[in-house]
Amino acid sequence: MVEVLLRKRKPPILTPSRIPCLRQFPTINITQGCVLGCVYCYIQGYSNYPGPERVVLYENTAELIACELARKRRKPCRVYFSPSSDAFQPLPEVQDVSFRTMAVLLDSGVEVAFLTKGFVGHRFIRLFSETPHMIFAQVGITTLDETLCRLLEPRAAGPCERLEAIAKLNQIGVRTTARLDPLIPDVTDATDSIAPLLDALREAGVKSAAASYLFLRPRFTARMKSLLVSVSATPPGMDAWQYQKFSDGCGGGRMIGSAERHRRFARLRALGKAAGIQIAPCLCKNPGLGWVGCAIAGPPPSAEQDGLVQHMFGFAEPPPAGGMV
Ligand code: SF4
Repeated sequence: MVEVLLRKRKPPILTPSRIPCLRQFPTINITQGCVLGCVYCYIQGYSNYPGPERVVLYENTAELIACELARKRRKPCRVYFSPSSDAFQPLPEVQDVSFRTMAVLLDSGVEVAFLTKGFVGHRFIRLFSETPHMIFAQVGITTLDETLCRLLEPRAAGPCERLEAIAKLNQIGVRTTARLDPLIPDVTDATDSIAPLLDALREAGVKSAAASYLFLRPRFTARMKSLLVSVSATPPGMDAWQYQKFSDGCGGGRMIGSAERHRRFARLRALGKAAGIQIAPCLCKNPGLGWVGCAIAGPPPSAEQDGLVQHMFGFAEPPPAGGMV
């Protein structure tokens, strides 16, 4: 049983993320914590993480955003949901606040970008269908295997539901990409796992996808290992899954080595090309691999909009007049 704790948040809400590829846009978390409970999720290590069965819901987010936007002489061009939670968690209260907040933004002419593994219901599809050109959607998915998906992302939407959401978003004209992240070497990136997934994504209308590999944080390593070894229904590569492959250290965690990652990304890109999907590695987690970024929040804003965001957050001089939404 999930507990939803209601809390009023304090302004300002429209603040930039510290994640490099999101630095151009304000980001919003509707909740503190996230009940989707992905086993690899980094927020479980945060000091303010409320626990797996609990979220803190910022119930006044939409109202505060409306006030903040009304006060601002210059509005941001786009807002991203959500760096440390999912706006589409399967909790009616959370979905209500997400819906109202996105509606306020869109009404004010501000684009909405999101990454989700959650449940994008009919009312969101209806809302997005009014201004599809203002929405940038990315749906996380790494496997078509329901059992494995349930183990990795216990309360997230299943693979079929995510594919359905992608197809619906594409049908109403929303630019929708997939996010193959985190891939597990020899498990979810095995050809007989990833190739059917890419075909299914293409069928749902996906033309491009971002990708990244599992980053093993020390506190989750034992849990991930035992979980993966227990997945007897996923034969390809399970025996070959070796912790030793995770040789690149970073901030106490480990990734597979950069040479091997490079090789695997090249193979993924070739598989993507065969399926008609362009695959770009996430640059934040793979600096130095020499590819372009993964467009986590949609395509980059125009030079004018970029200048505006930089100015809003004190990074640069203001853009010339007229360069705002
Ligand atoms: S959806 Fe994202 S924030 Fe939520 S548990 Fe999964 S990885 Fe963490």
